Amino acid sequence: MIIGVDIDNVIADTEKELRRVLLERRGLDLTREDIKTYTLENVAGITRQDLKDIMDLFNHGEIFTQLEVIEGARETLELLKVRHRIELVTSRPSSVERQTLSWLERHGIPFDDLIFSGKSKVGGTQYELFFEDQENFAIELADEGTYVLLFDAPWNRHVEHENMCRVHSWQDVYRFCFPPCALGH
Ligand SMILES: [Mg+2]
Repeated sequence: MIIGVDIDNVIADTEKELRRVLLERRGLDLTREDIKTYTLENVAGITRQDLKDIMDLFNHGEIFTQLEVIEGARETLELLKVRHRIELVTSRPSSVERQTLSWLERHGIPFDDLIFSGKSKVGGTQYELFFEDQENFAIELADEGTYVLLFDAPWNRHVEHENMCRVHSWQDVYRFCFPPCALGH
């Protein structure tokens, strides 16, 4: 099958790096639980100027070279890629393709295609399964019949859908995709 996979906050720990940047530049010491919106709007202590600076970081792309890989992402994607097509679908601007490809290569993230899709992740490809953390994309995909594994985050706790299962780690993804009974035990 074709599996769609988001990059930020699914494969790459983007919010952790954003918090590190905010601490370094602004002295703002935020926890993951403080990030109630993925855009950082309405997060305590975040100003309009901060939002603009963050947008600049994203558009220039240097932040994307610094990110840590979320534990288990590479290993689980390697196993999935044996039998399935893996399409990375990101809402990053296409201007950061070079930084994105170099980061993926450096960390050995396996994939068949990389798609920059700013406004919607529903389109040409009918994904059977999609790994996503962002509410708008997750709901749109689930509404279209794609089964979504929603990566738990403070900014998506309220989201529920019949075509959605909340996961807390790549270990959860592994358990979902490789249930013990399928291995013949
Ligand atoms: Mg994301």
